[in-house]
Amino acid sequence: MRGFVVRIVLAITRWRWVRWLFTKTRVGRRVALRFVAGESLDDAVAAAHRLGEAGVPVSLDHLGEHVTDLTSAEAARDDYLACLDRIAAEGLDANISVKLTQLGMGLDDDLCVRSLDALARRAHESGLTVTIDMEDSAHTAATLDIYELAQKAHGNLGVALQAYLRRTPEDLARVAPLAGHIRLCKGAYDEPAEIAFLSRKEVDAAFDDLCAALMAQPDAKPAIATHDDARIAVAIELAEPRDQPWEIQMLYGIRKSLQRALVADGHPLRVYVPYGDAWYPYLTRRMAERPANLWFFLRAVLGR
Ligand SMILES: Cc1cc2nc3c(=O)[nH]c(=O)nc-3n(C[C@H](O)[C@H](O)[C@H](O)COP(=O)(O)OP(=O)(O)OC[C@H]3O[C@@H](n4cnc5c(N)ncnc54)[C@H](O)[C@@H]3O)c2cc1C
Repeated sequence: MRGFVVRIVLAITRWRWVRWLFTKTRVGRRVALRFVAGESLDDAVAAAHRLGEAGVPVSLDHLGEHVTDLTSAEAARDDYLACLDRIAAEGLDANISVKLTQLGMGLDDDLCVRSLDALARRAHESGLTVTIDMEDSAHTAATLDIYELAQKAHGNLGVALQAYLRRTPEDLARVAPLAGHIRLCKGAYDEPAEIAFLSRKEVDAAFDDLCAALMAQPDAKPAIATHDDARIAVAIELAEPRDQPWEIQMLYGIRKSLQRALVADGHPLRVYVPYGDAWYPYLTRRMAERPANLWFFLRAVLGR
């Protein structure tokens, strides 16, 4: 059922007029930007300061994916280098999250590897870290190969794993000993039943099993990325006997009162803060996770 709904919503967001409504009308952009800190690095830094003052570290994501030319891939790398410099200059409690297709993976893998190296080196100079987002399943294997290479060379990276993929227990066993931070999320793409669990029940069960396996790894730094109360409760219980660091991660603008409550209760929380003008694909995934968002936005845009 979950897979069916995700597919329908993603199909609707690909309609030209829906995209136009969100990206070209003022009200569409205003409503859509509820999930995005803004279009500039200044906006992201301002959000990071606000969250920092509330005791919440962030991960900054300069939005973009699937670049189609090398100039854009190099520009994405340079934007992230500027972001790292700004984090260091402003003393923010922050790291960065990157998508490898934004750095040119699939177009020129060598460029992607060199760019990730440059980011890891620059981050290392200021004691910062770099997390690699996980994209659709066509990129899982290549993402993990590039992560492994970079993590062995630099030691300050992490990667996201998706509980809905049937392969993930093996991937976790492979990457956990590399001592990076491992972000466990449910998975946000439209994947077929042969490789992914589609029902909410199966995804939740896989998530809890992976969470237990991750928390039991002494070397990995678990980042449990979810807004799901039940998953968070399981993670908190599993983390109880752990001496090593771990954290809960949530997305900017989603379940803000829960975010505040977790911090007030003393739980470690990091908020993922996306920014930049290429926000539409990110927004479509947020709508697919909660179709009510789509109707809410369409009604606001149409003034009803
Ligand atoms: C920090 C972070 C990083 C992520 N990185 C990746 C990644 O690299 N690759 C990837 O595939 N996915 C990533 N995701 C997305 C993730 O895979 C899920 O699609 C997303 O988190 C929704 O699942 P959930 O665990 O919150 O549970 P759900 O069961 O979907 O949601 C639980 C509750 O949270 C609220 N909620 C969830 N989503 C929304 C929303 N969009 N709008 C409003 N309310 C909502 C609702 O109240 C819902 O009932 C990331 C998520 C987080 C939090």
